Amino acid sequence: MLKTPAYAAAIAKAPLAPFSVERREPGPHDVLIDILYCGVCHSDIHQARGEWGGEIFPMVPGHEIVGKVVKVGSEVRKWKAGDTVGVGCFVDSCRACEACKAGDEQYCERGANFTYNGRERDGKTPTYGGYSTRITVDETYVLRIPDGIPLDGAAPLLCAGITTYSPLVHFGVKAGDRLAVVGLGGLGHMGVKIAKALGAKVTVLSHSPGKREDALRLGADDFIATRDAAVFQKNAGRFDFILDTVSAQHDYNAYLQLLRRNGTMVLVGLPDPTPLAAFTLILGRRRLAGSLIGGIRETQEMLDFCAAHGLTSDVEVIPIQQINEAYERTVKSDVRYRFVIDIASLRRS
Ligand code: NAP
Ligand code: ZN
Repeated sequence: MLKTPAYAAAIAKAPLAPFSVERREPGPHDVLIDILYCGVCHSDIHQARGEWGGEIFPMVPGHEIVGKVVKVGSEVRKWKAGDTVGVGCFVDSCRACEACKAGDEQYCERGANFTYNGRERDGKTPTYGGYSTRITVDETYVLRIPDGIPLDGAAPLLCAGITTYSPLVHFGVKAGDRLAVVGLGGLGHMGVKIAKALGAKVTVLSHSPGKREDALRLGADDFIATRDAAVFQKNAGRFDFILDTVSAQHDYNAYLQLLRRNGTMVLVGLPDPTPLAAFTLILGRRRLAGSLIGGIRETQEMLDFCAAHGLTSDVEVIPIQQINEAYERTVKSDVRYRFVIDIASLRRS
């Protein structure tokens, strides 16, 4: 076993602190990766604070991992030492169910093996994420980071990038569509960039009026500050598509009113349960949907799409020693627009 420095939450809501995990020596189909950068997703915070229920502690969060391959198993042909690779939200799945066969491993019917706060295929061994110096992953669940893109800005593509790309492509967003992104955070700012690259006319809806300039700089065509309740009346029926990335409870009904006839609102944000009025959907044949990250093939497609369009995340790079402060700032919607941990800071400590 490979003793590996990490940062963990010992119990729900405990501040993250130095910890050590054991990584397995690479088996025939495994790749050992030295981690360079790991993004800080709001899902890390929800789970480290026990907000979803059933969490496994101690927890080493982190599922936006970029690093270098340092060793490969005897059967691995796809990767070699020195390759720049990524690992996203899951590290294995059953590979046999309909979802896995369709390339939708994130919806594995037997349960995908999440990168942390999960278990390996043996159903016992806990998984530990990217707030650590290295990780051993089966070759099939490793992504290629395209040449020439900044690695700190690439890390958030592994979750924020794919979580916004997947529903936009799945629900067929196309050039000229009127699209709203709700919440300009880690997911939201990638949603703006990707939707623009797909040709949509993008409006940001934000509860932070101070983000207007950033939204326009990131490529949005318009910005609506949602603190003024009158904007919901004024913009009723305006959008074909709404991508809701908000991490805290808010009234879905108010946003659904902004959809045109046959419009679709997709939830990717995961706040506490929120009531829904049937009338809001029925009047206008509106659709409310959800979407979870994306499959391996689609994640590679997203990475190549982002590289081709020059898209990476706007990041604030931090040493791991600042992780608890970064959590506080993220919860206050005060991040521009993704914290990324420079894992060199963990090697030095
Ligand atoms: P984030 O960076 O914290 O962004 C969330 C944004 O939501 C904030 O920047 C803020 O935008 C808005 N917001 C926060 N509190 C609000 C409030 N009280 N009222 C209205 N708006 C508020 O988080 P993230 O990493 O993008 O993640 C967003 C959500 O997606 C989280 O719940 C996360 O767990 C979930 N997630 C889901 C998936 C999936 O596969 N479905 C994948 C990753 C993450 P403004 O300041 O612009 O209002
Ligand atoms: Zn995430």
